[in-house]
Amino acid sequence: PLPLDVEAIRADFPILTRTVRDGKRLVYLDSGATSQKPRSVLDAERWFYENVNAAPHRGAHALAEEATGAYEAARATIGGFIGAPDREIVFTRNTTEAINLVAYALSNAATAKEEEFRTYAVGEGDEIVVTEMEHHANLVPWQQLCERTGATLRWLGLTDDGRLDLSDLATVVNERTKLVAVTQQSNILGTINPLGDIIARAHEVGALVLVDGAQSVPHQPVDVTELGADFLVFSGHKMLGPTGVGVLWGRYKVLDKLPPFLTGGSMIEVVRMEASTFAAPPQRFEAGVPMTAQVIGLAAAVEYLQDLGMDRVEEHEKALTGYALQKLAEIPGVTVIGPPDTVARGGAVSFTVEGIHPHDVGQVLDDHGIAVRVGHHCAWPVVRRYGVPATTRATFYVHNGYDDIDALADGIRAAQKFFGTA
Ligand code: PMP
Repeated sequence: PLPLDVEAIRADFPILTRTVRDGKRLVYLDSGATSQKPRSVLDAERWFYENVNAAPHRGAHALAEEATGAYEAARATIGGFIGAPDREIVFTRNTTEAINLVAYALSNAATAKEEEFRTYAVGEGDEIVVTEMEHHANLVPWQQLCERTGATLRWLGLTDDGRLDLSDLATVVNERTKLVAVTQQSNILGTINPLGDIIARAHEVGALVLVDGAQSVPHQPVDVTELGADFLVFSGHKMLGPTGVGVLWGRYKVLDKLPPFLTGGSMIEVVRMEASTFAAPPQRFEAGVPMTAQVIGLAAAVEYLQDLGMDRVEEHEKALTGYALQKLAEIPGVTVIGPPDTVARGGAVSFTVEGIHPHDVGQVLDDHGIAVRVGHHCAWPVVRRYGVPATTRATFYVHNGYDDIDALADGIRAAQKFFGTA
């Protein structure tokens, strides 16, 4: 049996009662792109709009006060989920915006008039280190930072079985390195990276570390104190929460020395016509009226996951991943791109089917009611590294069971039959 009660969980997700493609059960294997939402998350957003709706941190009327209370209580819940104090939690639109926030803060630092804001400035001669398995969201912002500042981008490569090649860690991360940006779980290979070694090396040379938690925070317990990085970023919509809200966690003493990214209302201390000063974190990084309902919805998602228990969520997905790897291995012509076993591996299973384009595989699966992702998964260098045009990717979450994986395997066989490759 699986660690989680799949039938009970499915009953919490209204969308899983609908059918697709002429009455077929929806087999949702695309949570890695975005997750479905349990009723409690939908209810939390509706509760806010029906009962409280007002702009937090503005105005003194009853609703404004309650909205501020609900927004800040949600910050505490979400911070608690990763073991962080409230003041280290900054709300952004998604992972992408959280990474851009840090990248722009580091280049803005170079020209900041306040000396303390220049602490982490990136400039010519400095280096930023990423890995070859990063999502475009954790690659392009660093390329752009390097273009703005004259810094150089370096990266750690990959091994043939889908893991980071750390053999040149000590030279790639060196005295010139200002920041290392690395994913905790690959969205395309499923790999869980040995962050301890990377963070230790980065800190040895005085570099900051940003961990992309978009695919880890939803699927495994993550505690920022244990992690030991300087920034952790993730998206609400991939962890049962609403779209439009993401999180930047930053070590307070680092956040406190960073200049703002976006400027405007809420993030200021004193404003005069000539110039302004800025609020302390996290407000310094939250310009404008925030995505209040979405933050409250995300707190409900966090509570849902906490009720299940993140240890059990992780075990559940490990069991599903092991079963999927075994089922796919039984089908001739199917090749998994990424680690072949469940050691240090999460539930993103990318594969190719000999003789059939990944998009065609996805199409046949869709005809069977199975939702998967096809393409380069916003990690183009990875598909290039493994010499494939694209992959078909199944990703698992709390409502998935063995039946979903059986459906996937049957669907792949149906595609082989349809294209006459079996
Ligand atoms: N990093 C990783 C590893 C991801 O999987 C994703 C989403 N596919 C992102 C970053 C970007 O997340 P978002 O689109 O929510 O900003």
